[in-house]
Amino acid sequence: MILDSKAMRHLTAEDWRVLAAVETGSKNHELVPTPIIERLSRLRGGVSGVHKSISALAKTGLIAKMKEAKYDGYRLTYGGLDYLALHQYASQNFVYSVGSRIGVGKESDIMIVADNKGTQKVLKIHRLGRISFRTVKANRDYLRRKNHNNGGGGSGWMYLSRLAAMKEYAFMQALREEGFPVPEPIAQSRHTIVMSLIDAFPLRQISHVGDPATLYGELMEMIMRLARHGLIHGDFNEFNILLKEETVTNNETTPPTETVKVIPILIDFPQMVSMEHQNAEMYFDRDVNCVKRFFERRFHFVGTQPGPFFKDAKKAMGQRGAKRLDALVEASGFTKKMLKDLEAAIRAQQAEAPEGGGSADEEAYEDEEDDDNDEEEQEADEGELEEEEPAATGSNAPDMARLSIGD
Ligand code: ADP
Ligand code: MG
Repeated sequence: MILDSKAMRHLTAEDWRVLAAVETGSKNHELVPTPIIERLSRLRGGVSGVHKSISALAKTGLIAKMKEAKYDGYRLTYGGLDYLALHQYASQNFVYSVGSRIGVGKESDIMIVADNKGTQKVLKIHRLGRISFRTVKANRDYLRRKNHNNGGGGSGWMYLSRLAAMKEYAFMQALREEGFPVPEPIAQSRHTIVMSLIDAFPLRQISHVGDPATLYGELMEMIMRLARHGLIHGDFNEFNILLKEETVTNNETTPPTETVKVIPILIDFPQMVSMEHQNAEMYFDRDVNCVKRFFERRFHFVGTQPGPFFKDAKKAMGQRGAKRLDALVEASGFTKKMLKDLEAAIRAQQAEAPEGGGSADEEAYEDEEDDDNDEEEQEADEGELEEEEPAATGSNAPDMARLSIGD
C-alpha cells in the first residue's frame, strides 16, 4: 500500500477522534465493535456524529469492516495507522508536508517529508507482512500462529511493524550518541520513524570508487566497532550503506587543493542482534562476507587480510571504553517474546525477498553473479534506477502535499 496523504485535510476533528478510538479499541479487539468505538470517541455530538465519522473514515479506507464478521465493527487499516502517525508528527511540528516515495523496501516505504521551514526529512514506514510467505514454511506457520495475538493496536502485522519502528529508533539514537555515522533520529510514532535525509546514494548504485581499499577497511572497521558495542547489524549490505561525498579542502598547498572523500553512512536497524545471540557468529560472518563479495564483484577488490573473525570480535567487546548497547531494546521495555516475534517476522521476510525489492531488481542482482562486464552491469543498474521513482533530494524538491490537521 502507498501512503496517500491527500485525504488528510478533509478529515474533521471528530473524524480524528473516532480514528484514534478505533486504534485504542484494537488493543483488545481484532474487530472493534461499533458501540465501543462510540464509547471511546466520546464525541459531544453523540452517536450520530460518530456514525458520520465512521462512514467518512471507511470511505477513505482508514478503517474497514471485516468479511463474515459476526457483529458490527471496524478494524484499523495500515492507511489509518499511517494517518494517525502523520497526524501526530504534524501536531508536533515535525512534519508539515509529504513528498514522493524514494524507496520501497521489502518491509518498508521510504518517503520524503518536510517541516514547515521546508527542511526535508525521511519518513520510514514499516510494513511487515506486506509480502506473503510461500516458501519458508516454518516461518509462515510460526507467524500465522502469532498473528492471532494482537498486542497494542491493529493486526498482528501492525503490532510487529510498531515493534520494528521502535527498535530501529532506539538503535539509531544509541548509535548516534556513540558517534556512529547514522541518520539523525528525529521522531517516532507507531510503525514509523522520522530521520534526517542523507543526501547520498546507496553503495549498490555506485559503479566506481576512487579508493576501494580504504572504503573496504572503513566498512570492516565499522563492523568491528559495532561488535565492540556488543552489536551485529544483521543486514550490512550495499543497500544499507549510503555513500556521502564530502569535499575536503587542503589549505597547506598553494593553491589549496580539494579532494572528495566518501563517508559511509549506515542505515536500517530493525534486525540488529546482540553479539551474544545464539546465531551471532553466523550473522557476523554473513555481514563480513556481504561486504567482501560486493567489493570483489563490483570493484574487483579483494582484501589482503583474512577476517575480521567472530572470535576476535567477541574478544573486542567492551574494549576501548565501548559502551555495551545490545541490552538496549530490553532496557527500553521490549520483552524477550516481543523480540522473538519481531525476529521471526524479519527473518521470514528476508528469506522470502532478499533486499532490493521487486523482481526486476532481483534479476539484475542475479545477473551480477556471472556477469563480469562492468558496462553491462552499469546499464542494468541504471535501468533499475529509472524504474524506481527518482530520488528526490537537494534542490529537486518534489511536489509536496501539505498536511492539514482538523484540530
Ligand atoms: P528497508 O528496511 O526496507 O530495507 P531502509 O531503511 O534500508 O529500508 O531504506 C530503504 C532505502 O531508502 C535505502 O536503501 C535508501 O536508498 C533509502 N533511505 C533510507 N533511509 C534514508 C535516509 N535517511 N536518507 C536517504 N535515503 C534513505
Ligand atoms: Mg535496507
